[in-house]
Amino acid sequence: MSVRRRTLLKVIVLGDSGVGKTSLMNQYVHKKFSQQYKATIGADFVTKELQIDDRLVTLQIWDTAGQERFQSLGVAFYRGADCCILVYDVNVLKSFDALDNWHEEFLKQANPPDPKKFPFMLVGNKVDVDGGNSRVVSEKKAKEWCASKGDIPYFETSAKEDYNVDPAFLCIAKAALANE
Ligand code: GDP
Ligand code: MG
Repeated sequence: MSVRRRTLLKVIVLGDSGVGKTSLMNQYVHKKFSQQYKATIGADFVTKELQIDDRLVTLQIWDTAGQERFQSLGVAFYRGADCCILVYDVNVLKSFDALDNWHEEFLKQANPPDPKKFPFMLVGNKVDVDGGNSRVVSEKKAKEWCASKGDIPYFETSAKEDYNVDPAFLCIAKAALANE
């Protein structure tokens, strides 16, 4: 049996409180969803193993414990990040407007060597709400924002219905691998 190298990738999930960051992670890693709103407690990160082509990859996905309300996540949170998922709620304009801040904050704190090449991804979550009738941010508007930041990939998801969650994480993992 050949011994394959395992690659560890640190994934950071950022965005306003309540947009569904913890729910996306729980859906991706544990295939679970909860309506209950709980501040994240316990471990700083969860891990998920996956295979991409012939490489074994361990995603180490870092969640916030509610401190995102104060935008003070500390250096350890950002240190050594390989990629960053920015999340907003398609039904809440404020969470979309906050993206510039999160993007800037990440670049400032993580200080990646080549910011233009750093693998970001934008996720518009909660597309299931009210059958899409309560959304206030269009896909077009979201994609324009992505284009303005250097062609960041964009995914629309529902952590509740497990819609597009796996593809989003797979895409960012591939982008991070390619950037290694
Ligand atoms: P966080 O603060 O960004 O970690 O957000 P949470 O994951 O704690 O989610 C906040 C609330 O939104 C919770 O009540 C979740 O159940 C709910 N929620 C998260 N994702 C979705 C989704 O895709 N659809 C719906 N309808 N509710 C969601
Ligand atoms: Mg949370």
